Order: sequence, then C-alpha cells, then structure tokens
Amino acid sequence: MLQTFKTFPEMLRAFPTEQSAIDHLTAVRWANGKFCPLCGNADEKRIGTLAGTNTHKCYVCRKRFSIKVGTIFQDTKLPLRTWYAAIWLITNHPKGIASTTLATDLGITQKSAWHVLHRLRHASRTPSFNAPLGGDAPVEADETFVGGLEKNKHADKRLKNNGGTGGKTIVMGLLERGGELRAGVIDNVQAGSLQDVVRHHVEPGSTLYTDDAYGYRGLAKDFDHHTVQHKAKRYVDGEAHTQSIEGVWALLKRQIIGIHHWVSPKHLDAYVSEMTFRYNRREMPKGERVNDLLSQVEGPLPYKVLIA
Ligand SMILES: [Zn+2]
Repeated sequence: MLQTFKTFPEMLRAFPTEQSAIDHLTAVRWANGKFCPLCGNADEKRIGTLAGTNTHKCYVCRKRFSIKVGTIFQDTKLPLRTWYAAIWLITNHPKGIASTTLATDLGITQKSAWHVLHRLRHASRTPSFNAPLGGDAPVEADETFVGGLEKNKHADKRLKNNGGTGGKTIVMGLLERGGELRAGVIDNVQAGSLQDVVRHHVEPGSTLYTDDAYGYRGLAKDFDHHTVQHKAKRYVDGEAHTQSIEGVWALLKRQIIGIHHWVSPKHLDAYVSEMTFRYNRREMPKGERVNDLLSQVEGPLPYKVLIA
C-alpha cells in the first residue's frame, strides 16, 4: 500500500516493519500496473505472487523475482527501511549528506553508506524522456568549472574563452525561469558540445540567455538568443541575464565544498544530479520528495560499475 507522510517521524511510523516497506515499494513501482522486470511483460493477468511470500512469478518468461529485481535495491543487504531513512536525508537536507555522516546516523559502515548514496544519486537523474524546456518561459544556459586550485577560480572565464579547462571538470546547466533545471558534466566548451545540449533540451524558438562565450555563437538562427557580456553581468539589463543559473552554480559549489569537501571528476555528474533533483523539488512537500525518488529506482547500479 502506498504510504504518505509529512515528517521524518511520520515516515518511520509508516514503516513499522520491513514488510510494510516492501509493500510500499511494490505500490510505488507498480503504480501504473504490474510488469515483469526480467522480460518486460506488462500483462497483469500473467504475473502472480506466490501465496504468503514476496516472490512474484511471470507466466511469460516463467521466472520468479522480488520487487527489488531491476532496481537500485537489487543486491542490497540493507533493510529497505534503512534505505528510506537515507532517502529522507538526501532529499531533504538542503546540501545533501556526507557518507561519513550517513554511516553514523544509520549505524552502517562508511562503505555501505557511500554505496547507498551513489545509488540514490543514480536514481536522482532527470528522466531522459522529459519534455523540452522553454516555450513561453526563457531559458538560461551557462557552464561552470569545478575542481582545480582555489587560486585559479577567477580564471574560469579566461580558460573558457581559450577553450581550455585547466584540469577542471565542466558542468553545463539549463534553467527554465520559473521551471526546471537540467545540468550535467560535459567534455569541453566547444560549440559542438554546448549547442548539442541546448538543442537537445530546449524547444526551438524559445528565448535563450547565455554569456558571450564563443561556443554559443550560431544559436540565434534557432532560438531568440540574447547574450550577456561578462563585465556587464553585475548590472543586469532587464530580463537579459544569467544570474539564476549562476545562483545554481553557487549552490552546487557550496554543496561540494561544504558537505563533501572534494568530489572526483568521475563522480561529479552524479553529485550534479543529486543537487538538480533537490533544486527541482524545493517547493515539494518533504514526504513527497521521498516517494518521488522512489518512483525513479529502476536500474541496478552494481558496485563494479561504480568503481570502474
Ligand atoms: Zn517475465
């Protein structure tokens, strides 16, 4: 049965037993009907449950499975109730939570906590089938450089205009004003990379604000493209600015520096997903954020993939 809750204690009370947590996952995962995670059979009449167990059987592929198969919980040894507590913390703490803190809070090893958080970050990714941004609302596009030496932080724009990154990792973001944020790691700031992202995520004809970096030149033929000069950024000219997306970058950096101190380039994209998930749900009631993440848990992320 699908449970709803408003506070952390309410959530804990909603799941007094492991069975109640399994029933909840079942309700969320099969909210739109039963399906077999092994063969994709979505004919409810051809999926059964062995009486008195948590084992389901598909009458198409003849295989048995638990509700965790094909989700980030597939191989977990931790109780789902422990996962739900972790989901509350990662979705509701404004900057997320460090694996060391989570380990202490939940009484699990730090390795386990690290694994839990990475799987939850995997689940927090923006679904790829989302509708394009823009239309009536303007979209701000910008990139930021993460990592590297503190003394180089003011060199970002110079590095960018030289096409270099100074060993830093580049994160690109698109923010629809009053709407959704999408962000992720990109390989370089060449026109091909930046414009591919814009064209993939923004509806043609939308109003687009970027800075005057070289990589954005050429978008005016498909978008109502306005550029903001770097030096003029502080003196906003009406609607033409990229301050909202720059505010997101400040948030990302506070999260990385304040909570994790350092993030490896390999995992940065996952941290960006986590931040984006929270940003897009900042107006959503806290309990709903938990169920929203739970609705995105398809796809296991084995340990060997994580450390690859
Ligand atoms: Zn099947």
